[in-house]
Amino acid sequence: MNQLQGVQKNAEYYPAERGKLAAPFLETGTIIGLKRPFQVEKMVGGGGFGQIFRAVDMETKLVVAVKVEPKSVESGRIVLELHILVELAHSPHIPKVHYSGEIGGYNFIVMQLLGSNITDLRKFQKGRCFSAETTARVGIQCLEGLKQIHELGYIHRDIKPSNICVGIGEHKRVLYIVDFGMARQIRFPSGAFRPERPYASFRGTTRYVSLAAHERKEQGFADDIWCLFFSLLELAEGLPWKNVVDQDQVYHAKQLLLRNFQSRKMGQNFGTFPRALELIKRTETPNYENFIVILKSCSSRVNEWEEFEWDDH
Ligand code: ADP
Repeated sequence: MNQLQGVQKNAEYYPAERGKLAAPFLETGTIIGLKRPFQVEKMVGGGGFGQIFRAVDMETKLVVAVKVEPKSVESGRIVLELHILVELAHSPHIPKVHYSGEIGGYNFIVMQLLGSNITDLRKFQKGRCFSAETTARVGIQCLEGLKQIHELGYIHRDIKPSNICVGIGEHKRVLYIVDFGMARQIRFPSGAFRPERPYASFRGTTRYVSLAAHERKEQGFADDIWCLFFSLLELAEGLPWKNVVDQDQVYHAKQLLLRNFQSRKMGQNFGTFPRALELIKRTETPNYENFIVILKSCSSRVNEWEEFEWDDH
């Protein structure tokens, strides 16, 4: 098939229909990559902007994921994402990049194929919740991943269960952080921090963001851990503001929850998690190990070698 034959033209002309709302940007069978060809099989995910396809590396026969974004929609996003993924190639919790390029009106990144995201996996669980043990294991691996992102000087700004995917094959017990389209560099290699803005526009997903993000304050490393905290609470027992759309109402619901926070599922020790987070200043490096210790204390049996509870599906 000709390189461009399977490329849909609609996203270029109708940028409002993007990500998972749009028709697949690439048809099954489309071949992308000039020097190194990849053949598209099917769409496996869609986000706010891009779409993810399963594809085959025609040289190595390796099955890969291809993230595609229309150039017409904030093309800086995918460039930033590629940069961060390449810089984080050493991290076990970040998908590996194989190749990148452009096709028609789209930019694409070829990367390691992952399995389901944690939102989808939770929906198949009894009571739509995970055990304290699974929740703690997810949290520990995400903290390890966040530590490496933060060491690079970046914050993710959109940590949430649908941006956490499980690995496949020999990596099926490893969790991966995806989607760096909203990331921001807050510390430069010199060690200097980007100057704080008096007003930062809203970035993130209302359900999970920190109180500081609601207040339009400049986000720091701790804000990613706040997103992880609300994500973990959702995984273990659900969030009281699950059906609330209004941002101010979600903000007040979070304030109320934190005033006297207790978790019925994760136990008393989990209460120290938000209290330790509240003490971290914007340019301070969090003590990741401290949060890992808290999570380990939330379940008597946090065993990284055991199967995850979704493994039998
Ligand atoms: P967007 O930037 O458009 O929001 P994401 O990067 O968040 O897109 O990806 C959307 C969904 O696609 C994720 O929730 C996840 O389920 C899936 N996904 C992302 N990366 C991969 C990957 N490497 N392998 C398999 N599925 C992935």
